[in-house]
Amino acid sequence: MKKTIGAALLVLVLVLTAVVLERTFTFRSRQPAAAPVAVEPLDTAALAQRLAGALRFKTVSYQDSTQFDAREFTGFQAYLRATFPRVHAALKLEKVNGYGLLYEWTGSDPNLPPIILLAHQDVVPVEPGTESRWTEPPFEGRIAGGYVWGRGALDDKGSLVGILEAVEHIIAAEAKPRRTVYLAFGYDEEVGGRRGAAHIAELLASRNVHPELVLDEGGALTTGMVAGISAPVALVGIAEKGYVTVALTAQAEGGHSSMPPDETAVGMLAVGITRLEHHQMPRAIRGPTAAMFDYLGPEMPFGPRLVMANRWLLGGVLAGKFGATPQGNAMLRTTTAPTVLQAGIKENVLPSSARALVNFRILPGDSVQGVVEHVRRTVRDSRISVEPLPGTMNNPSAVTSVDAEPFQLLARTIRQVVPEAVVAPWLVVGGTDSRHYARLTPNVLRFVGAAIGRDDLRRVHGTDERVGVQAYGTAVRVYLQLLKNVAL
Ligand SMILES: [Zn+2]
Repeated sequence: MKKTIGAALLVLVLVLTAVVLERTFTFRSRQPAAAPVAVEPLDTAALAQRLAGALRFKTVSYQDSTQFDAREFTGFQAYLRATFPRVHAALKLEKVNGYGLLYEWTGSDPNLPPIILLAHQDVVPVEPGTESRWTEPPFEGRIAGGYVWGRGALDDKGSLVGILEAVEHIIAAEAKPRRTVYLAFGYDEEVGGRRGAAHIAELLASRNVHPELVLDEGGALTTGMVAGISAPVALVGIAEKGYVTVALTAQAEGGHSSMPPDETAVGMLAVGITRLEHHQMPRAIRGPTAAMFDYLGPEMPFGPRLVMANRWLLGGVLAGKFGATPQGNAMLRTTTAPTVLQAGIKENVLPSSARALVNFRILPGDSVQGVVEHVRRTVRDSRISVEPLPGTMNNPSAVTSVDAEPFQLLARTIRQVVPEAVVAPWLVVGGTDSRHYARLTPNVLRFVGAAIGRDDLRRVHGTDERVGVQAYGTAVRVYLQLLKNVAL
């Protein structure tokens, strides 16, 4: 009897091993074949100068909209007109809802659906008190050590000016698009895009514009960010997470702190928050993150390739390892982040209510509704009210198909310009203006071709934001090649 069990076990292990190995060896590369193109002769020093000029305008978005400085935006737009004369002569420009810019480069074939390239004019403020920590000042547009320094170099004036460079270059070569190309530049992306991108998208929708592709920021050409792959990895955002902030309000009897009851509003609220942190929404490898593993796995060394090829068996191991960092975790689940606590007015008075705000970033597949239900279920205290904060509710975006032509086209384009690059789909864990365009097309992609390293992530929205002069040149080449492939 024992012998039979032993033999059966051995057979099982052998079969499992055979299946695991079979799947590993047939885990084929998904990188599209693309013949490299001749490197476009661009004057990268001049490109850097023109970008640097754009960084000198303090087009800052403040949470408090009364701080909006219109002169900076007007100055920035005048700078664009002066710097890209061909664009401004050949394209129609509409100002939308004040400072939104919508350029139309009309194609010769009205039967081809247009494409829309997005970027935003605004930048986040420099945190007061940190100005002196910058190696080069944030709003002087300096070039030093092979970098263009300043707020907006990566997020997102590099894209905006880079797109205009590509169009200017094509017009200079006397080429004309067959397909209509829209350039749409919002001016309040950093505070949600409701005044800029939302209005431009609304206008395009009212004109029945159904683009073949919408391309925005969100992913990048990364180096040293994916363990096991030394080549640059082009992470192309095919979806972005949703968003909701939930307010928890605990009510209790107030009064003198000399005779406190067993339970106080502050104590109840603290228990509620602790429960939320201890009972996170479930972790899962699905959607965009599953697609990312499908694209990265075949390019990896044997060990990780085996794991990624056999997620049916080793998915738990992979999720545990990948989810061990905050960045990895954010790609596997809806995250829970308590951000604001409010209670009490005096040190010896019991507050009759205590309030917390908890911010959730919602994984595609979950929803605002689902998050609110999760919070109610987890807090399970009828004395704590749970309400989503008005104006903070966004469901996750739809997921763009990697098998559809627009993703494949962008992947080929990237590999034409950077032949050694590994392209992979990606989940954008923040938000971009592109979500306002989702109703126009299922094909929304989020990618900028400027090479960035791990170190650059803290620079975006932080101190010492910068872009490499050569890296920026690559971003312009990607826009150029994309326009050649899709529009000319
Ligand atoms: Zn941005």
